[in-house]
Order: sequence, then structure tokens, then C-alpha cells
Amino acid sequence: MNEDSGGFVYFIGAGPGDPGLLTIRGQQLLLEVDIVIFDRLVSPQILQMIPESTQKICAESLPGCHPERISVLVDLMLKNAKNGFKVARLKGGDPLLFGRGSEEIEPLIENRILFEIVPGVTAAFGASAHCGMPLTHRGFSSAVAFITGHEKEGKTDSFLNWSEIARFPGTLVFYMGVKRAHVIQSNLISQGMKADTPVAIISDATLPTQKNAVSVLDDLTNTVAKENLHPPAIIIIGEAAKYLGRWDWRGKLPLGGASILISRPKGQADGFADKLKNLGANVFQFDSMAIKSPDDWSSVDREINQISSFDWIVFTSANGVEKFFNRFVHLGVDIRRISALKIACVGPATASALKQFHVQADLVPSRHDAEGLINALYPLVENKKVLLARAKEGRPLLAQELAKICNINEIQVYSQSEPEQHQINQIKTQISHKAVDYVAVTSSNNAKILIEYLGDELKAGIASGSTKLIAISPLTADELKKLGFNEIICPVEFTTNGITAEIIRDYGEKKQTKVN
Ligand code: SAH
Repeated sequence: MNEDSGGFVYFIGAGPGDPGLLTIRGQQLLLEVDIVIFDRLVSPQILQMIPESTQKICAESLPGCHPERISVLVDLMLKNAKNGFKVARLKGGDPLLFGRGSEEIEPLIENRILFEIVPGVTAAFGASAHCGMPLTHRGFSSAVAFITGHEKEGKTDSFLNWSEIARFPGTLVFYMGVKRAHVIQSNLISQGMKADTPVAIISDATLPTQKNAVSVLDDLTNTVAKENLHPPAIIIIGEAAKYLGRWDWRGKLPLGGASILISRPKGQADGFADKLKNLGANVFQFDSMAIKSPDDWSSVDREINQISSFDWIVFTSANGVEKFFNRFVHLGVDIRRISALKIACVGPATASALKQFHVQADLVPSRHDAEGLINALYPLVENKKVLLARAKEGRPLLAQELAKICNINEIQVYSQSEPEQHQINQIKTQISHKAVDYVAVTSSNNAKILIEYLGDELKAGIASGSTKLIAISPLTADELKKLGFNEIICPVEFTTNGITAEIIRDYGEKKQTKVN
């Protein structure tokens, strides 16, 4: 029990939103723990890093209302730690800054539960970096204050001394303040702060939905309403706010200012989003399908255990490769049992997933789809024994065609589930607000799902000239045409690199037109 139980609680800061801002220590721990209790604001991409077998609980889904819910959450941590489990408490930003951390940590001390605190990038630092706006500056600010805007009006035991705050010699950063902007504005002005003091408001800092506004103190409330700024947001008050936009490092990159929606199977790890981000783009992800392991591995295990009896393995996605080889490793099968086999991959992304397991593809067709694979394999697999490792929901064409000339065994190494409603709603809003310049569609299956969920909004976005569709290949473009979309950009190379090149070209032309 307790310190001897082996149980442990890790308080981990998830950062302000961009998954890349999670610390390495935080990421390592998320791979090791048994249970993760996460805040609603934690990025879905961070949650996707957590192994499927780990129990994940959203703190806001626990019974009771905030703040009573904290005692339910604490009980849950205590119970699990006492039973010897490792619990991660994943909190937005830094875990101890305005996160009621003490209410969660003190009971652990009382119950002699061991814990560790892993810091996180707080919203103010995320916003400052992403807006290119320093919070301190030799010329005007030698101090920063982090202040909660959430204290109740008329609270008698307030820790906030507004006259001191109004005279603070530096930058003020208000957390939880947008809904109480009127209180901040009137308190500071009545305590003598200048009405024309610069103010910046940043919502969803570091996320693709980030919004910024600049204002002055006596117009703060108006600006929040006019610009439709919602929590989570911070309000930065002081000369620093004048810098918002001045160090716009992203704007100088080839895709700086472009917003791109990529439609991908959830959890697909090929770095497409990162590549676009590195070029300055704002990337929204429509996780068209969640990737799930099979409930029952027995048929996959059977084929893996007799893998050396095959002549070929065929992979049609990076996810297929990953799921297959992870299972292979899990079963402890000797990798040399595939040494005599030939391996075909549908395209370079699948082949590069294979390389992650130190295996090279023998065949990657020049046309990266099922038809391309069929044509390339046909002369090679006659009367051979072929294993096809793929998704449960994939197209049947490949297996049907190959079955005509070879002995084919098909295994379903993963399945795909529905996209999440809150993500669909968020993307709908972005498209309707003309905040999506390009939609990259990476397979015909993805095209179908994308149009099923976002078809109406996309039609309106394309008609208004604010959004363009890019298909990865002519096959995907044909699928989009069948679904009623005609203006489709298609890259020269049918890969995500091809899509990227096409967006850079088109966006460059668009920027040029704006300049002229
Ligand atoms: N521990 C968190 C703060 C928790 S309080 C941190 O260190 O950042 C919650 C408040 O944080 C929100 O109301 C908002 O003011 C701020 N916040 C959190 N994420 C934010 C984001 N991505 N952009 C702007 N403000 C954010």
C-alpha cells in the first residue's frame, strides 16, 4: 500500500495545444503509465501518443460539476495508486499554474503516495512564441505577472490588489480573463492605468485555430466581443502587446499564413502534418478514421507463426505495416523468418513505414494504388503464396484480382472507426469562416468519408473561392468528381510530397496575385 504499493502519480504538463510542445519526459511517461486522466483541453494528437491498452479518462467526464469534481478525480488517483498502478494526470499548459494543482497534490502527500511533477509550456509562453511577441524586453518590460482573471466579483478575500497590479512595472498576462474582460478593464483604468495601454488577446494559442487581436485597454471588452474571442484565451497588457505580429516568423515561410486541412486516417504517422507546419502552414487534421487493433488477433497470429511458408507479403498502408510488425515483435517471432520473402508496398509512405522496422520493400509500383499494385505484382506472383496485410474496411479489388493467379491469404491487421463529432464541428466552423485554404485528400476512401461529413461546407467554401481541394492521385480525384466536386488540383507526384509541392506553387501564385 501507499509508498510501498508501487503506485505512482505523474503530474504532466501537456503544453498549450501544439502537441510538439509536450516535453520528452512527459511523452516517455505517457508510454509507460497504466492510466491517464487528462484535461479536455489536451490536444487529441497527444492523446493519440498514448498506447491503446492504456486506460484514458477525461477529467471533465467524471461525475459532478467543477470544482466538486476534483474530489472524484482525487479519489480515482488515490484508488489506482494504492492498487499499485501508475497514473498520469495530464494537465493543460504547466500542471501547477492555475490548474488547482495543490488540491490534487496535497491528498497524495496525506496518503503517502509517491509522485513526480513534469513541467509544461504555459499558455503565455506558447502565445508569446507563436505570436513573435516577447513578454520581457530591455526597452520596456523587466518583469512579467501571471494573473488569474477568474476571481469572483466582490470576493472579499481576493488576492488581487488592483492598485498594485495597475502599477506593475512590466507585462501583465491574464489567464481565464476573456469572460471577465470588463472587470479587468475597469479595475485597471480606475486604478490609474492609462486607457491607451496596448493589449493583445490570443485565443487557442499554438493551435491551428489560434486567433489574435490587438487593442487598447479602454477598448478591451469591445475587442473581445467584436473579434468573437472565446476561452481558452489570455490577455496580455503592456508595451509587449505592440509586438504582436512584428516578429511574424511564420509569415516569411513558403506556406506562412496558409491554412490546410488534411484528411488522414487517425494516428497515421508519416509526418505529413509536420512537414506542412515546418513550411509555416496552419494545419487542421480531419482524422477520417481512428485506427484500431483487431479485437481478436488469432487469424493474424496464425499467419505470422507460419510466415516463412509465404513467398510475398503485400502492404497497402503505413498503418498496416506498423500493426503487422508490432504484432510480429509482440509474438517474439524471429525476424529472419521473413528473410526469403519478397515485400510489396503500395507507395513510398508504406515503404518508409517498413524502413522503420529495418526492412526494405522489394516492390513499390510507380502508380501508388491498388491498380498499380495489381499490375506490378501480376507477372511476379503466379502460383505463389501471398499474404495481404490490410485494414478490415479496405477495397476488395486487390485480393479479388490477385486470387485469380496466386494463392492469397488476407489478414486484417487493423480496423477503422468513425471520426469524432467535436472535431467535425470544429472543422465545419473553420471552413464556414473561410479559414481553410486547402483540403488535402489522401485516398479515395478518405474522400468518401470527408465528403460524407463535410460535403456541404466544402461545396460552399469552394463556391466562394476560399477553399481548394487537392487529391493525392487521379483515382482520388475521380472519387471526388463522382461525389460532385469538379475543381480538383492533382499533383505531378502522387504522394504527400507531391501535394505539398502543389500547395506551395498555388499558394505562391495566390500571394503574388494579392501583391499585384
Ligand atoms: N495550467 C495552464 C492554465 C490553466 S487555467 C497553463 O499553464 O497554461 C486555463 C486558462 O489557461 C484558460 O482559461 C486560458 O486563459 C489559458 N489557456 C490555456 N490554454 C490556452 C491556449 N491554448 N491559448 C490561450 N490561453 C490558454
